[in-house]
Order: sequence, then C-alpha cells, then structure tokens
Amino acid sequence: MNRFDALVIGAGPAGLATAFALSKAGLKIQLLEASDHAGGNAWSERFEGYLVETGPHTFRGQSKHILSLIEELGLNSELLAVDAAKARFIFRAGRLHRLPARGLEFLSTPLLSRRAKVSTLFGLLRRGRDGERSVADWFTRRFGSEFHRILVQPMVAGIFAGDSAELDMQRAFPNLWQQTGARGRLLPALLRSRKGQRRGVFMLQGGFAQLAEAMTERLNGCLRTHQKVVSIAAKSAGVYRVESASGESFESAKLVLATPLAGLKHLLPELLPGTKPCLEALISASMVSVSLGGPGKSPLPAGFGALIPRSEGLRMLGVINVSALSAERSPKDHWLATLYFGGTGDAEILNLDDSCLLALAELELEKLCSTPFHPLFRRVVRHTNAIPQPDLNSSRALAILGQQIANAPGLHLAGSYLGGVSLDAAIASGFEAAAAVQKELAA
Ligand SMILES: Cc1cc2nc3c(=O)[nH]c(=O)nc-3n(C[C@H](O)[C@H](O)[C@H](O)COP(=O)(O)OP(=O)(O)OC[C@H]3O[C@@H](n4cnc5c(N)ncnc54)[C@H](O)[C@@H]3O)c2cc1C
Repeated sequence: MNRFDALVIGAGPAGLATAFALSKAGLKIQLLEASDHAGGNAWSERFEGYLVETGPHTFRGQSKHILSLIEELGLNSELLAVDAAKARFIFRAGRLHRLPARGLEFLSTPLLSRRAKVSTLFGLLRRGRDGERSVADWFTRRFGSEFHRILVQPMVAGIFAGDSAELDMQRAFPNLWQQTGARGRLLPALLRSRKGQRRGVFMLQGGFAQLAEAMTERLNGCLRTHQKVVSIAAKSAGVYRVESASGESFESAKLVLATPLAGLKHLLPELLPGTKPCLEALISASMVSVSLGGPGKSPLPAGFGALIPRSEGLRMLGVINVSALSAERSPKDHWLATLYFGGTGDAEILNLDDSCLLALAELELEKLCSTPFHPLFRRVVRHTNAIPQPDLNSSRALAILGQQIANAPGLHLAGSYLGGVSLDAAIASGFEAAAAVQKELAA
C-alpha cells in the first residue's frame, strides 16, 4: 500500500500548485494525473515549427500568483509583455474595427451609434439597482443594450465561453463588483482600481508547458501520470483510499481533489452523496480551438485578435493573432492564428468532425480578413466541459459544496470553478488548498 502525507488528484495548474507548495514544505506527497503530462489545459505543443497553446495564451499583469511562481521557478527571462494586446478588434457590419483605447478614439469609433456613445458616457456615472445580478443586467443598466450587445457579450464569450445573461456579475467580475456592488457608479471605481496595479498582458516565450514542466521538475518525482483516479473511499481512522484505473491504490489522511468539475462529479458523490445536487448545478462550457498557419503575413490586422458579437451571424467566438503576439510562435515569415468556437450557446459544435471544423474555420476567417491566406498548418483541439460557468446558480451551489467539504476532515478542493476561471485563480486555489493541508498537519 502506498501511504502519503497528502494525495493530490489532477495535475492541472491547481493541482500542480498544491503539490508544488506541499512538496516545498517537505511533505511526502503523491500527485496523480490521468493524462501523460502535468499542466492540464495550460499546455503547449510544437508542430512543424509552430508553437500552439492548447489552452491559455496570456495572463494579465495583476496575476500575482503566476508572476511569483515564474520568479521562483527562474522563468523571468521567458516572460514576455504582449504589446499587441493594445490593439484589439471587434467584427461589426462585415468589417473589423479597432476597439477604442482612449476617449477621443471612443468618440469617433463606428462600432457604436451616437446615441450609444452618449449613453455610455453618462453610464460611467449611472447607478445600478439592487436585484440586477447578471452581467447583462449590470452593463445594460449602466451603458445601454447596444454597448452590451457589441462590446460586453463578445468579451464575456471570449473569457467564459458563456452567456452574459446567465453569468453572475459578482462571481464573473469580482473586482469590479467589490468596488461598485449592484448600485455603485463605475467611474470612481475605475479611477481607484488603476492605482498601483501592474498593467498589461503577458505570456511565456516557450508556452505554458514551460510553467508545468518547471513545476514538475521541483516535485521530487511525486508526479504519477497515466493514473486516472476512478474511486475514492473513506477508510477507518480518517484515512482516504484512492484507486486508479490501472488498479493501484494510494492512502492518505489528507486528500486534495484538483480535477475539473466533470471529474469531481464522477468521484465525489461516491464519498459524500449529499454533494450530488450541488455538483449537478455547477456547469462548464465546452469549446473547440482551431489553429491555422501558413507562409506570408498574417491575414489579420496587427494586434491581439478579434471578438465577434453573436449578432454578426458567425459561429466563431473570437480569434487570436498568435504570430503577432510573438514571432517565436511560427516559423520565420509564417503566420499563426487560433480561432475559438463553441461555448454554452453552441455546444453542438463539438459534434462536428475535424474536417468540418477546419472548413468552417477557414470560411469564417476569410470573412474577417481582407487579405487572402493559404493555411498549410492546421490543428483542432477540443475542450470538453473545460470552462466552469460563474452563473447565477453557482454561488449557492458552491456555498453548499463548501459546507459539505468542511465537514469531511482532511478533504480539500482546488480548481478554477472555485474562485475564477483564470489560470491565476486556479493557481491561487491550489496554494489555498496546500495552506489548509499544512495547517491541519501542524495542528
Ligand atoms: C481554450 C481555453 C483557453 C483559456 N485561455 C485562458 C487565458 O488566456 N488566460 C487564463 O488566465 N486562463 C485561460 N484559460 C483557463 C485556464 O486554462 C484554467 O483556469 C486552468 O487550466 C484551470 O486549471 P485546473 O487545474 O483547475 O484544471 P485543468 O487545467 O482542467 O486541469 C485538471 C487536470 O486534472 C486531470 N484529471 C481530470 N480527472 C482526473 C482523474 N480522475 N484522475 C486524475 N487526473 C484527472 C486532467 O487530466 C487535468 O490535467 C483557458 C482555458 C481554456 C480551456
């Protein structure tokens, strides 16, 4: 029998962060991962000179957990500020329009009607109302329906692959909500929040696999891949017994479940049957990313990429102009772009086979671009139930789940469904779980 100080299930960013912190503290741990590598969705692969991120491309300057990890792992020289992030585009009326970055650009943008611009300016000082909990309500109340449809809906689809009418403002944009609540004005909050924050968008030169690999190296061999956990049981004397599909079993009094929601829904009710209803209330969106690359200049305008409002009639949610973020992502004089499809509004897209998805991606990219392109490189990645939705039911379901977990001694959760969908939030949840385990062991 394999007995450990702590067991961690799932080696995505959340589980890796948990294991990294626990192993740094000198504990004997085991990190069990179903696939052949650690990193979860934050992973990158090289093909024919193209570097493709299978999940995240970038993170924001305020991401203090990622930044401190990068520093601790000696990866600072790999950190790249993404200048292209200053130019972002929205597709409207058959054309790409640059998102206004400053006041004067805002006044002249063709993205919004004159009426919507006036409403937006007044909206900065407009108060919300109690009871307007959804992202759609919060923004529409302040800035009007055109602003919401053209700017907010596509941004929400780009971040959460979800529907702004279903998402809880408090959970989706916690910093903004903290400053304004339901009723506060946005302008004073914006002025306050800009102070003292690291600005900008960042990426790792060699892709997010670098982060996973550097953390794995520091785990003193505690990672076991190809170990899909299939059952968890509580033995006597507060010990958990975990079994993997390969038939091996592992034991510990401290267990951190860092699988995504789909894994949790499978594993946890067996141990705590009362968690089933609240887990069922938590949903995740599925997505498909299609990367296209080829010789010559990028067909997209210089900048980060584009978001597509639903009203434009395309299935694509958005596209990242990857080779504009870093020239290292494609062979010399080649371009690379990654297009995103799916989300809660278009889950059926996962039923299309790769050849249909590639044809759709080329067709829709053509509509966005004025320059012809000839992709030679093509890659499809499916992300099933990958983006947890901070929707209007999730706060209550998570609160109930939290109570049930608190009643199970030694059991902890980590993952991006808990405190935010970003990589930084996933890492933060892992550090929190590790701190809780250490506290219990020290008691
Ligand atoms: C397409 C896409 C784009 C994204 N873009 C960004 C971005 O630009 N910026 C950003 O900040 N965030 C982005 N994210 C979000 C970011 O990837 C997540 O926040 C992060 O990966 C969540 O980490 P996690 O550890 O909770 O889950 P995951 O990354 O899903 O990792 C979970 C791990 O658990 C393993 N596992 C599952 N079940 C079992 C089991 N039974 N036994 C053992 N192991 C198991 C899985 O194999 C996986 O390795 C993106 C996500 C996606 C899908």
